[in-house]
Amino acid sequence: MKDYMFCYTVCGSERRRRMDSIIDDFARRAIHYIDGLSSRNVFPSDEALSNLQLLDTPLQEKPLPAEDVLALLDEIGSPATVASAGGRYFGFVIGGSLPASLAANLLAGVWDQNGVLEASSPVAAKLEEICARWLVSLFGLPAGTGTGFVSGATMANFSGLAAARNALLMKQGWNVLEKGLFGAPPISVIVGDEVHVSLLKALGLLGLGQERVIRVAADNQGRMIADRLPVLDEKSIVCIQAGNVNTGAFDPSDEICERAREAGSWVHVDGAFGLWAATVQSLAHLSRGIEKADSWAADAHKWLNVPYDSGIVFVRDHEQLRAAMSTNAAYLIESGKREPSHYVPELSRRARGIEIWAALRSLGRMGLADLIESGCSHASLFARRLQAAGFEILNDVVLNQVLVSFGDADATRRIIKRIQEDGTCWCGGTRWQGRTAMRISVSSWKTTVEDIEKSAAAIVRIAHEEKR
Ligand SMILES: *Cc1c(COP(=O)(O)O)cnc(C)c1O
Repeated sequence: MKDYMFCYTVCGSERRRRMDSIIDDFARRAIHYIDGLSSRNVFPSDEALSNLQLLDTPLQEKPLPAEDVLALLDEIGSPATVASAGGRYFGFVIGGSLPASLAANLLAGVWDQNGVLEASSPVAAKLEEICARWLVSLFGLPAGTGTGFVSGATMANFSGLAAARNALLMKQGWNVLEKGLFGAPPISVIVGDEVHVSLLKALGLLGLGQERVIRVAADNQGRMIADRLPVLDEKSIVCIQAGNVNTGAFDPSDEICERAREAGSWVHVDGAFGLWAATVQSLAHLSRGIEKADSWAADAHKWLNVPYDSGIVFVRDHEQLRAAMSTNAAYLIESGKREPSHYVPELSRRARGIEIWAALRSLGRMGLADLIESGCSHASLFARRLQAAGFEILNDVVLNQVLVSFGDADATRRIIKRIQEDGTCWCGGTRWQGRTAMRISVSSWKTTVEDIEKSAAAIVRIAHEEKR
């Protein structure tokens, strides 16, 4: 028998010993990585990036001990990571991982549960069911709302819009799951001019078309102008935004939902990060009326600070989500309880409720409100510092997003590049209504006031040097 076969299949105590030692080894490396986050450059060095080439070897014939595999990953991979788990990463909309949710994620890896069915993992199914109830209550959504745990807001948009498409067509007497879209009565899809690309991607995947949408003009914050809505009817899906990815602005949900309701249309809310504002008293004005919509998408890996990947879809009538997503096969034993796979596109998948449960349980309602409110207050502190130094803030800072211009497009682009190279923090660029801007998104529990002061000081210093 070959050496490795012996170790992995025959010798139980040897195998246990190996598991112990790899877990010890991992824990030591993990602590070292986390300790180093605050002192390292946020973006990896050129040297670290070129060292990635060392991983690119031909696949060898013989097995390699797990410890050696982990050492390679840590010694070459860790320095090449982006320090988005630290407190000074402000790119895209990227949260960190709360201690409880990180630990839950690691334990979930140890458990290795298949989240497909109650029968494959009672604990995963139970945790999802609890999270579904907590989240519906936190977001103030109606009783009876169905919830699915997906990989992110893109899939949450996809799932909510699938339920919308199917339900509206079913009302027209057309079963799209059976007959497909060819020959179906047309559905009109209405989006705002500042719609997120992931929503268009979902529409494309669903056969609803990315270009046949009706675009509604948006104001200077990216909010859909409700008066510009076309005539709605029972064959319309209106897609609104809770949190524009550049400005953080919210579409006027109350007004749009009222109009849609009168017309019998469906309202879908892309609330990838902004929906979390609905859980906080002091920010609830932003999302007023949002509970009158029919489906909602949110991310947990952004502002809830759970590890990737994790998004959530909600559909007002849980039967409509179930009808769009459930499958049946004789071997997929059903328990009569909530079956996780009846609410999502996948069958086998990660048991994502584990980390969401841990995050919410560790935060409580107060901790969650504090996480969201501090993201907002950090963003406005950032904006005040940059404005005081003479730079223009392009958006009303209503949430956790800040857009700043350093002058013309070239200067702004040059300064963004220098900030990224400097490594104190990381911010990305964007185009906002014809202007080049730097985007700041404060989405991590790790970010402190000191992180904002230190980052703002570095940005101001670099921008002044570059302008001289
Ligand atoms: C991030 C984001 C998405 C896409 O979410 P993923 O989790 O990356 O799939 C959709 N809409 C908005 C507004 C976002 O900010």
